[in-house]
Amino acid sequence: SKQSLSRSGSLSPRLLERREEAIRVSVRLRPLMDTELRSGHHYIWRVSDGQLWVEGGTPDIPKSVSDRVKGVQFGFDHTFEGDAATSDVYKKVAKGIVHDAIRGINGCVLAYGQTGAGKTYSMSGDASHPGIISWAVHDVFNKEFLLRMTYLEIYMERVHDLLQDGQAGEDSPLENLLVKEDPSKGFYVAGLAERLVSSEGEVYEWLSRGERKRHFARTDFNEVSSRSHVVFTLIIENSQSSAEDDDVKTTRIGRLHMVDLAGSEPFGAAISEKAQAESKLINKSLFFLSEVISKLSARAEASGKDLADSFHIPFRESKLTRILASALGGHSRSALLVALHPSHCFLDESLKSLRFADKAKKIKSRLQANYVSYEQSVIAQQKLTIAKLREELRL
Ligand code: ADP
Ligand code: MG
Repeated sequence: SKQSLSRSGSLSPRLLERREEAIRVSVRLRPLMDTELRSGHHYIWRVSDGQLWVEGGTPDIPKSVSDRVKGVQFGFDHTFEGDAATSDVYKKVAKGIVHDAIRGINGCVLAYGQTGAGKTYSMSGDASHPGIISWAVHDVFNKEFLLRMTYLEIYMERVHDLLQDGQAGEDSPLENLLVKEDPSKGFYVAGLAERLVSSEGEVYEWLSRGERKRHFARTDFNEVSSRSHVVFTLIIENSQSSAEDDDVKTTRIGRLHMVDLAGSEPFGAAISEKAQAESKLINKSLFFLSEVISKLSARAEASGKDLADSFHIPFRESKLTRILASALGGHSRSALLVALHPSHCFLDESLKSLRFADKAKKIKSRLQANYVSYEQSVIAQQKLTIAKLREELRL
C-alpha cells in the first residue's frame, strides 16, 4: 500500500513468504561418446533417485582407479542419467524457479562442471535438444508479462555486455563494464543493456547476436568459451491490481539468472609471467564462487550458534560473485546443476565437482518477492510513451 513507500519512492520489498529454502543441487551425467568408448573410457558413476555411487566390479577399470573411489556415495535433490532428456531436467530443476520468478521471487540456475561435461548442452542445448533456457523462455512467454533481458560474459574479470549496440569486429575489444553496489538495489552492472522482448523469437535473436559478439571478438574462441562465464537474465515484470483496491496497482519484478559457468578444471601450467597473471584473472571468479559457497555453507551449519555472524562472505572479491550475490546469499530460489563427465578418466575433476555440490546443498535462502509501485514499472512508463506518441500523431 501507499504507506510502505520508501523515501526513494519505491515500495520496500514485502515478504511474500518467510519460507527458508535450501539451494537445490542436482547432478547430470552425459553419455560417453563413441570416440570416447573407442579410446578406452568407461562409465564409472551410477545414479538413481538422487543417489550417486561408483559402479563396482567393472573389469575394464584399473583396480588402482576403482580402489580410490570405493564406497564413495553422494545424495542430491535429483540425479540424471546419460539418456535423460533436458525437458525432464528442466521440470525437476528449474521450472519451479521460473514460475516463482513470475511471482517476483528472484531465481538462479547455475551450471557447473568441467569442460566437456555438458554445461552448455544443459543450458543452451542445440537445435534438436532445447536447453533449460529455451524451456524457461517458452514457459514465461506462455503467460502475459513485460519481459526484458540482459546477456553478459565475464572473461578475465572483465564484464562484457553481449547485447550492446556497436559492431563486434574481429579486433574490436569488448567494453569492460563496472559492477557497482547500490545500498538498496545491491550489486548491479552499470550500463548493461536491457532489451525489451515480446516473443520467444526475439529472445533468440538477441542471444545469437550476443553469441556472434563473443565469437567475432576472438580468434581463440573455444579456449575463451571454456574460460568465461555467461549470464543470461530475464527480468519479468508482472503488474496487477491489488486484491483489495482495483486502483492500487503494484508490480512484481522477478530476475531470473541462467548461468553457464567456466570449466571447473584448473587452467594449464602458465609459463610466462603474463600468462600467470592472465590465468589468475581467468580463475578468480570461479575461485571466489567456490569460496562463497564454502563460507555460506559453513555459516548455514553454524546458524543458531553465535558463530553465524562471524562469517565474512567474500562476495566483493570477484565479478561473478558480485553479480550472483543476491542469488546465492539472499532471497532467491537457486539451483545448481552439476554436469558430470561419466568417464573413469576424470575422477579428480568429478570428485571436486561433487564435493562442491555437496557444500552447496547446505546453503539456505529466505524467499522474498520484489515489488515496485506501478508508476515505477516499465510497463507504466511504456504506456505513457505510447499515449504521448498518440497525441503527437493526432497533431
Ligand atoms: P561444456 O559446456 O560443459 O563444456 P558441452 O555442453 O559443450 O560441455 O558438452 C560437450 C559435448 O557433449 C557436446 O558435444 C554435447 O553435445 C555433448 N553432450 C553433453 N551433454 C550431453 C547429454 N546429456 N546428452 C548427449 N550429449 C551431450
Ligand atoms: Mg560450454
